[in-house]
Amino acid sequence: MVNNRITNNIKRYKTEFPAGVRLVAVSKYHTLEQIQEAYAAGQRIFGESRVQELLLKREQLPVDIEWHFIGHLQTNKVKHIAPFIALIHSVDSLDLLKETNRCAAKNNRIIDCLLQLHIAEEETKYGFSFEELRKILVCNEWLELKNIRICGLMAMASFTEDENQIRNEFASLKAFYEELKVGIFANSPEFKELSMGMSSDYSIAIEQGSTLVRIGSGVFV
Ligand SMILES: *Cc1c(COP(=O)(O)O)cnc(C)c1O
Repeated sequence: MVNNRITNNIKRYKTEFPAGVRLVAVSKYHTLEQIQEAYAAGQRIFGESRVQELLLKREQLPVDIEWHFIGHLQTNKVKHIAPFIALIHSVDSLDLLKETNRCAAKNNRIIDCLLQLHIAEEETKYGFSFEELRKILVCNEWLELKNIRICGLMAMASFTEDENQIRNEFASLKAFYEELKVGIFANSPEFKELSMGMSSDYSIAIEQGSTLVRIGSGVFV
């Protein structure tokens, strides 16, 4: 029996998602063969969370793949992905934003970034608090960074079965996004993305206004 599992998964998500919601196929830990099957099914956006793994895969896969970086990024590794990365979802410090800007300038590019917020109850997840980010954004230092574009926000909800908690966390990110969109980013049409939702909670995320859904196991397993 021919196994079209990945193809079917991709098609199912594409049919299910409302207009304006894009699928980021999270290919970390998955093989070139699996990524190629998703590619053949029409998927072009892939997300990776480790620099080394991303570089190795990119070398061997079609050049029109749009690579997104979704994991914690160390400042000393930005230079490796700066020549090609399409979107960094996980900018979680001003230093990382500055280094991204520096590497983008070196490559004559403008790199699209999302700012990662901490909305989950777990201590271990990366990201700014709403308060921290407000402080950074009113400081205007980031406005001098001409080689990055802040295109929106990203966050992960708590790892819990409690759907109400997940819904409340996504809703808090959406509300913060709306606050920035009519405030600091009022004149920035590129500020339009909300990256939230994974395999287990993507339907709640979409209901709460997600535009970029990051799905790994739901596509590849
Ligand atoms: C791994 C990962 C995902 C995908 O998780 P699944 O549960 O496999 O869908 C999404 N976002 C981030 C940041 C990840 O690290």
